[in-house]
Amino acid sequence: MKTEQEKLDRQLEHFRTRCAETGLRVTPQRLEVYRELLRAADHPSVDMLHRRVRRRLPTITPDTIYRTLNTLEKAGLAVRVSAVGNSARFEAGLVRHHHFVCRACGGIYDVYSKRLDRIHAGKDLPAEYRVDTVQVEFRGICPSCAEPHPEC
Ligand SMILES: [Zn+2]
Repeated sequence: MKTEQEKLDRQLEHFRTRCAETGLRVTPQRLEVYRELLRAADHPSVDMLHRRVRRRLPTITPDTIYRTLNTLEKAGLAVRVSAVGNSARFEAGLVRHHHFVCRACGGIYDVYSKRLDRIHAGKDLPAEYRVDTVQVEFRGICPSCAEPHPEC
């Protein structure tokens, strides 16, 4: 069985390999943003990531987080998941999956499904559109928001 540490080491190794392949320097900012994406289960926004990364890099600005995410996204190390309200949300995106987005709390939950993975655009799009990937996004109400809340 792999320990959490071994898993993290493997993921950081992947990060270094991708940086080398795409000619990116491994900077403390990029490393910390990526590390935080790996750790996060909640598909954080720029502001959420900024609050977390700032603990280790106190001078980092939201703008740097934003630019770092764009750089990581181009290198295939970060994925822009969905926009909830006005803010884009991100994840490390290691294994292919789909999402459920709660319209009440903005929570984003991962959905792993071989059946959904098999969906192809096929003839739904004109041939000139080259599809890289298909991702399904369910929208609705998550179980904790569906629970009746007692009146105050
Ligand atoms: Zn996800």
